[in-house]
This record gives sequence, C-alpha cells and structure tokens, in this order.
Amino acid sequence: MSVAAPMPMIDGLDLEGRRVLIRVDFNCPLEDGLVADDTRIRAALPTIQYAMDQGAKVILASHLGRPKGEAKPGLSLAPVGEVLAGHLETDVMLTDRPVGDAATRLSKELRSGQVLLLENIRFHEGETQNDEHLARQLAGLADCYVNDAFGTAHRAHASTAGVAQLFEDKAAGYTMAKEVAALGRIMDSNRLGFVAVLGGAKVSDKIGVIESLLGKVERLLIGGAMAYTFLQARGIEVGDSRVEAEHLHTAQRILKLAGERGVHIGLPVDHLCADGFNKDAKAVLVNTSEIEPGLMGLDIGPRTAEAYSSVLCDARTVFWNGPMGVFEFSQFAKGTRSIADSLGECAGWTVVGGGDSVRAVVEGGFEEEIDHISTGGGASLEFIEGRELPGLSALGYRREE
Ligand code: ADP
Ligand code: MG
Repeated sequence: MSVAAPMPMIDGLDLEGRRVLIRVDFNCPLEDGLVADDTRIRAALPTIQYAMDQGAKVILASHLGRPKGEAKPGLSLAPVGEVLAGHLETDVMLTDRPVGDAATRLSKELRSGQVLLLENIRFHEGETQNDEHLARQLAGLADCYVNDAFGTAHRAHASTAGVAQLFEDKAAGYTMAKEVAALGRIMDSNRLGFVAVLGGAKVSDKIGVIESLLGKVERLLIGGAMAYTFLQARGIEVGDSRVEAEHLHTAQRILKLAGERGVHIGLPVDHLCADGFNKDAKAVLVNTSEIEPGLMGLDIGPRTAEAYSSVLCDARTVFWNGPMGVFEFSQFAKGTRSIADSLGECAGWTVVGGGDSVRAVVEGGFEEEIDHISTGGGASLEFIEGRELPGLSALGYRREE
C-alpha cells in the first residue's frame, strides 16, 4: 500500500502581516472578453479568503491561455480580477506586467487583507521555461508561498516549481490538498470492487493511465473511440470506426497483461454508429462484429451501457476518464450520460478526471452526484499514472509505494 507523505498545508504557515504569493489556476474560458465560466475562480476562494482572514498581504499569480511569452491584451487577467473582486467583496489590484518595477512597488505597499493580482504569468516567456531569473523576481515579491493550482502541478514552470525552491515557508492550498487527497484515495484503494471506466479519443493518450490502473483495479470498462482499437486487436472488424493502427500491438499487450493480472476487461457489445462524423448523422444501432464497412462507432449501445451500469452500481471505488462516445453530438451522448448516472447511483467512492469527461459530467448536470470531480485535466491523469508532479514535489510531497 502506498502512503502519501504529508504535505505542508496553508494552515501551518504564519501569515499575519506577511506577503504571501499564491499560485492559483485562473485559466478560465473567456467569451467576448468576459469570463464564461468562473468555476476555477470559485475553487480558489477558500484559500484566498483564509489568507486574507489571517491578515496576509495576498499576491496572486496565474496563467490564462497560451500567450506564448507575449503580452496579448485579449489574454489579460483583468476580467478575472473583476469577477474575483465581486466574490471577495474587495478591491483587487492588477499589475501591468507579471513582474517588474510596478509589481515590486505594489507588493511593498500592500496592507494586510489586501489583494494584488499579477498580470498573466505567461506574458513572460520565462514562465514555461522554468526560468530562474523569473522565479527569483517572483520570490522577491513575497515572504512565503502557497500553491493552489493543481491543474498546472504537472508542469515544472517558474511560478510552480522554480519559485517554490526559493522559499523556506511554502505550503499547499485547499484545492491542491483536496485533489491530492481524492486522487490519492483512488491510488490507495483496495483492488476488490475497484472499477475503472476508460474512454475518449485515443489509446495513445492513455497508455500510461491504463498500465497504472491494471495494477490496481478488478475491472476495466472500455468505451469511446479507444474501444475500436481494442476490438480490432482482438480480430473483430470495426468498419470505419477510429482505429489507431500503430497501437494495435499496444492494445494486444494491454489485453495480455490484463489476462495475466486477472483484470476483467469490458468491451462494448453494441454500438451507435453513423455513416459519417457530423452532428446531424443518423444513429444506427448494431452489435459488435456487425459493424459494416462505411459505418463508424460513435457511442456505446444500450446493452453495453446497461452491462457497465450494473457493474458500476456495485463498485466500491470508481475512477472514470474519457467519454463513452461523441457526447458533443446529442444523438451520441447517451452512453456517456448513462455512465454518469451510474456513478451517481454508486454507493462507493467515485472520481472523474480528464478535461472532456468533466465537461460531459458538468454539462449533463451530474456534478452533485459524483464524489470528486478533478479539475486537473492532464495533471489528474499524470497523478493516476503514478508520475511525479513537479509542482507537488516542490512543496515536499512524496508518494511512497
Ligand atoms: P478527456 O479529456 O476526458 O481525457 P479525451 O480527450 O480522451 O477525454 O476524449 C474526448 C473526446 O473523445 C471527445 O471529444 C469525444 O467526442 C471523443 N470520442 C469519444 N468516443 C468517440 C468515438 N467513438 N469516435 C470518435 N471520437 C470519440
Ligand atoms: Mg480531452
């Protein structure tokens, strides 16, 4: 069994009257220059509010989009600052550049309980290069450091890994701690009754996740486009469904490994197919082995959904990544919905991770029914793969097998 070494928490820091640099994840979707979804801002509120209540002088750093080292006005954090100010019911000052004279001066003038937001950290090219000079400039702004941005914990960037090395006093915020606890619980779960559901676009994106889960789960239920590479690897014709020919051997290796480890693999027995990949395509229901040339599988069929649901209802632990079909087209969203529904009915510990999977769950209105929805995207998958996350390591987090 693995044990997560304790990570220093924000509660353990002396914050009163001190400047704290908090790395948050304010990478929100924008529409017409406004924040279209403020989930990530709301997720950071407990940590920010706690620091303010403790009398800290709060300095926030985040990236937004991919400005690639240039100051792109359309990716300014100004609209985020406005939404944040509304939630905190206080003024939020925004610097003109992420670091520099203005940021330094404003950080010195801050009073207890005040909030300063640094402009988009990726306006500086040194951020994604984990540039030491940038890390030093950031460290110069504050007395202690908190990282609450789980979504970028898998990247060694200046504001995540580099800057943390330069602080004695550093800790995780509440969102970071919640993610690590929830995903850590998945990794430490008993094999009996542990079911993983994997779907999505590609086998190649998920090889690491599948291999890691094979060592932990009792059953693996497969859907989405990746199911067709597995079916073809078993010698079943899949028509025009998406198959990664270069990964047929990977799928074969995984199936063999599962057999050796006694992991039960579930593959779809029926499919909703179409004669083309478009939003108006008519859905045709066919059984596995009856997918004719010209047809492509775009969702799991009702018998598969029912079989998967009955397994999930009795599961003790469920980790789900990857939609079961092209949920973006409503006629191919049923399979994904029925999995979300089953997770809601499952009495065990249920966790969903992955960008599109989470979007499918939230858009379907299943958010309340699932124990933990990881906002981490790529970071949550790398955590499940058992990889080291530089943002966590820099805080002193270690996993022990
Ligand atoms: P996540 O972001 O949750 O890790 P992925 O990015 O791996 O998930 O996969 C999501 C994408 O997979 C969706 O855009 C969905 O349309 C696509 N997808 C699912 N099933 C199929 C299928 N049968 N054929 C083609 N694309 C599919
Ligand atoms: Mg995705």
